[in-house]
Formats: sequence, structure tokens, C-alpha cells
Amino acid sequence: MIKANRILQNSGWWIISILSLAPLLFWLFGNPYGSPLKFMFSSLSVFAKDIGDVFGLCGMAMFSLVIILSARLKIFERFFKGINDAYTAHHFFGGVALILLLFHPLFLAYNYLLISFRQGALFLLPGANWAQNFGTIGLLVMIITLVITFYTKIKYQVWRFTHKFLGLAYVFAIFHTFLIKSDLSFNNGLRTYFLVLGITAIVAFFYRTLFADYLVKVLRYTVKDIKLLPDKIWEIEFKPVGKEIKFTSGQFGFIKFYSKELSRELHPFSFSSNTGSPLKIAVKELGDYTDKLGSLKVGDLVKIEGPFGVFNFRNHSNKKQVWVAGGIGITPFLSMLRSLDEKDSEYKIDLYYSIKDENCLAFADEIQEIAGLNENLNATIWISKAMGFLTADAIKEKTQDLMERDILICGPAIMMDTMKKQFLAQGALEKQIHIEEFQLY
Ligand SMILES: Cc1cc2nc3c(=O)[nH]c(=O)nc-3n(C[C@H](O)[C@H](O)[C@H](O)COP(=O)(O)OP(=O)(O)OC[C@H]3O[C@@H](n4cnc5c(N)ncnc54)[C@H](O)[C@@H]3O)c2cc1C
Repeated sequence: MIKANRILQNSGWWIISILSLAPLLFWLFGNPYGSPLKFMFSSLSVFAKDIGDVFGLCGMAMFSLVIILSARLKIFERFFKGINDAYTAHHFFGGVALILLLFHPLFLAYNYLLISFRQGALFLLPGANWAQNFGTIGLLVMIITLVITFYTKIKYQVWRFTHKFLGLAYVFAIFHTFLIKSDLSFNNGLRTYFLVLGITAIVAFFYRTLFADYLVKVLRYTVKDIKLLPDKIWEIEFKPVGKEIKFTSGQFGFIKFYSKELSRELHPFSFSSNTGSPLKIAVKELGDYTDKLGSLKVGDLVKIEGPFGVFNFRNHSNKKQVWVAGGIGITPFLSMLRSLDEKDSEYKIDLYYSIKDENCLAFADEIQEIAGLNENLNATIWISKAMGFLTADAIKEKTQDLMERDILICGPAIMMDTMKKQFLAQGALEKQIHIEEFQLY
């Protein structure tokens, strides 16, 4: 079962690739006037036009799928390793779609360049043909938005706002796809395929970006208690208003606080409790939003979308595990620790919780207490100031059968990256290492 789930979870990347290339099949075999391959290599200009068309069709299919992925539906987690992985795919395929769509007009311009450089340049500029102008505008908006995404360092909320323009770029691009004279005009298979993709992408965009406040299902809670713990960590407890959220330990939700100081932004946080009532999160002050969490008052309304995520020790068939937490990366493990019961007696877990110094011992006592009650759980609190950075070597010294174990890591990006490299260098396999990133790409 776990193996079947793993195969399914890796299929998302393949599904997007295949669906993006599907127009190529319609283009090759759905043409009522015969396969374009017959003439494709007859001259350089036919070849350039055909390649331009194929880049345009595959680029548009991929762009549609990228917009669909941004809908952040729970079902995506069945086909990816969690929603984070779906976001990584969204980011990656967005970049590839941009490249394909950039080359689309460049290849088509070749035939005009044969007449003159001026004609080639004129082809690429807006003119009297609105079907073509829609494509030019869509591509320009897409370029600007993606350059901001990939190459600038702006505040997350500003980035989110600019990212919404991808939907606008898509609307222009899909108008272009249907209105311009192309294979879609006579190839029914291709037209139907793009109709389905186009409608799905536009519905996804409306659902997630324009009308999320009305359409996305959320659960309502209120703040029951808020406590400041060492190392600027706020532990917040929520009380359900109606139905409580059902989740597996290690999962997270997108949380929106309704208070004067917090501007109703949606931020992802792991649940640190193991049930939805009482529901708890622990948040470290790390930026301009989390710095204001202390202003929350008991009774403030909270809306939670979720749960999301697949970071849970029971998802792995190997019952011998090492858990590595860095700083606030302890939260999903806290939820797992709090959920341990007699059904988990076959697990053998060594937890390493790395913190900066003694002033950061937020959850150490509770962790030691849980470990004291569970003979299969060993907990090591690693204080970097006194012991140096936690390394895979240091872990191996204590957990000698490390290579036989699955390794779960959550912490600062740089720590996870370094530790993963060290584990791989020691001989661990990629598939043994499971990472929960506190960043969505
Ligand atoms: C799956 C997941 C689980 C998380 N669990 C916890 C947790 O249990 N405890 C905890 O303290 N932190 C957790 N985080 C991190 C937390 O979401 C960010 O620290 C917080 O959103 C930062 O907001 P800020 O505006 O204060 O900081 P900023 O300095 O503005 O942002 C810091 C970083 O967080 C990212 N970020 C900012 N706002 C958002 C947002 N709305 N959505 C997604 N990313 C954003 C940015 O990419 C930036 O790199 C989790 C993140 C993820 C993805």
C-alpha cells in the first residue's frame, strides 16, 4: 500500500509532462489533411513554422496545467509528494512553458525574416491583427511576471500580488490560441483538448485567485490561548467554531487570522497538536507578519484551510527512523510525538532536536518526558552553541544503524540542505530521506 502510494506520488511530474506533450500527438495524427510530418522537412521555412506551432501548442498546454496546479487542491497531494512538491512542479513547469512560448513567435518570425529584417520585427510587434496582439500581450505579461518571480527579491505579499497577473496573461494567451488561424481551426481533437484545458484552467484561476474567499472551504476557529515561549516562539491554541479539522500528525494548514493588526494574510503553519480540538500551532517570529502575532487576542477569529502535507512517520514502511529537527522545524515532530501510542510500538525512533543555545529550549522538557515514557524513542537535544552544528557524523556516532533507517528532516533550508548532502555522502539513498520544507516554491 505504502509502495503504491509512493508510485502515485511520483506520477504528478509525469502526468504534467505527458499532458503538455499531448498536443503533439493531436497535431501529428488528428490533422484531417494528413500528417504534417509529410511536409515538415521539405524546406527550412516549413520546418521553422511547424516547430513554432508545436512550441506554441505544447507551451500553452503546459501553461494551462501550471494555472491548474496553482489551485492548490488537496487531490494534488495524491500525485505529488505533498503540496510543496506540487508547488515546485508549478514553478518548474511555469519556467519551461515560458521558454516554449518565447520560442513560439521567434520560430514563426523566421519566414518574415526571409523577406526582410523589418518584416520579421513587424511580425513580433503589435499590429492590426487582434488575435495576434492577444498573444503578444499575454506573452509580455507572462515575461514580466515570471522575471519578477525568478529574478527579484521582493516581499512575499507583493510577489503574491504580481503572480496573480499570470492569470491575466493566460486569458490573453488562450484568446490568442482560439482566435488565431492555426491547426486548432481544423483539427477537432486539438480544439477539444484546448477547450477542456482552457476551461479547467480558468475555473481554477477563479477558484483560487479571484474568488477564494467565497469558494475555498475553510474551518472556523477562535484563539483560545496564546503564550510566548523562549526564542520568540508563540504557541497558539484554537477552539473550533463548529466542525474541527481532521488531520494526520505532521500536516499543516493555511491559516488566516482576523484581527486589526494582522492583515488577513494566509500563511502556512504545521499543526503542533495531534488533534483538531484543541488545535495548536507554534510560530517563530521570523518576519513582518509573524512579528505581529503577539497582538492576537483570545476570541479572535481564525480561518484554516487544510490539512495539507504528507510528512508523517507512518507514511514510511521502514519502522527504524531518525528524525532531525532544527529550531522551529520541531513543530511537525511535536505533533507526531504527541500522537505516539501503543500501535507505534514497532517503531524505533531517534530524534535529534537542534537549537542554538539554552535560551531556545522551548519544547525540550515535553520531548524528554515523552521519550522517558517510550522505550523505543531516544531524544537528543543538540545545543549548537556548546556542541557545534549538528552533523550526520555526530548522528551516526549515536545511531550506529543510521544507514538502515529512514531519515525525516525539518528545519531551516540551509540546515536541511547541508544535512541531506552529509547523509547522502555517508551512503544513504535519496529515497531514505524525507524533507518538510517551511517554504513554498
Ligand atoms: C508547510 C509549511 C509549514 C510551516 N510551519 C511552520 C511552523 O510550524 N512554525 C513556523 O514558525 N513557521 C512555519 N512555516 C513558515 C512560515 O509559514 C513562515 O515563516 C511565515 O509565513 C513567514 O512570514 P513573515 O511574513 O513573518 O516572514 P517573511 O520574512 O515575510 O517571510 C519569510 C519567508 O517565509 C515565506 N513566506 C512569507 N509569507 C508566506 C506565506 N503567506 N505563505 C508561504 N510562505 C510565506 C517567504 O517565502 C519568506 O522566504 C511553515 C511553512 C510551510 C511552507
